[in-house]
Amino acid sequence: MNIQTITKLLTDAGIESNEAAKEGRMRLEHFCNYTEIDRCKGIMPDEAQLSVLYEKVLERTKTRIPIQYIIGESYFMGEYFKVTPDVLIPRDETEILVRRAVEIINKNNLKDILDIGTGSGCIACTIAKNTDAVILGVDISSDALRVALDNVTRLGINNRAVFRKSNLYEKVRSEEKFDMIISNPPYIPYGTELQPEVQHEPQHALFAHDNGLEFYKKITAQAPEFLKPGGWLVFELGIGESGSVKEVMGQAFADITIEKDLAGIDRIIYARKH
Ligand code: GLN
Repeated sequence: MNIQTITKLLTDAGIESNEAAKEGRMRLEHFCNYTEIDRCKGIMPDEAQLSVLYEKVLERTKTRIPIQYIIGESYFMGEYFKVTPDVLIPRDETEILVRRAVEIINKNNLKDILDIGTGSGCIACTIAKNTDAVILGVDISSDALRVALDNVTRLGINNRAVFRKSNLYEKVRSEEKFDMIISNPPYIPYGTELQPEVQHEPQHALFAHDNGLEFYKKITAQAPEFLKPGGWLVFELGIGESGSVKEVMGQAFADITIEKDLAGIDRIIYARKH
């Protein structure tokens, strides 16, 4: 048995080959005590390590549970975040959103940020880590907020990212005003067929009515009430949604900018309150 045989098990099960290779390494490190350093030194995993890996991969191909839920961690913006099936697994694309938000916050010296649908807290925590701002993260799920709180402790940013259970703005007080509202909202239109791994993620974090526009509309409609003059509204975009979201934001926001991800897909949109 060798690594290639095991990676092949994953690719034969329909897992994309880059992912399969990355997963193999994550599993070796997590379950077999074999590190990236061993790999760089040219030390090969031994037979015992490979057989542990084989068992774990076999289980994975049967259940299609995402590797991040199995090991309980996900890598995002240079940090390891705790994840459970109560939260969406942070996506690489979301790093584009966070990097742009961090740049805007630092350049304009913004202080108060609201993250709607914070989930694992990956956006709130990485903004806190990379700026001087204070972030309020809200989520409808108490289970998700427990994960977000654990991530605050992990990243050592206590007091600068705080969380509150709230369905969108419901529990945000009218006197609370923000310099930026940011969200990676659920944006997949109901009825879209997804790969088996994604079906293990919380459905309410993925899907939206109104062809995926439900939360863009809801968040945008009330954003002016909670933003300071000139405040920013920043969203991650679902595939093919940039035109409609631009229209939704156009009524109350100016200077709308759309940026693409590495695959050339419109991925983020941001604008300022009139
Ligand atoms: N804010 C979290 C993330 O970007 C969760 C988003 C969501 O659940 N839709 O990963």
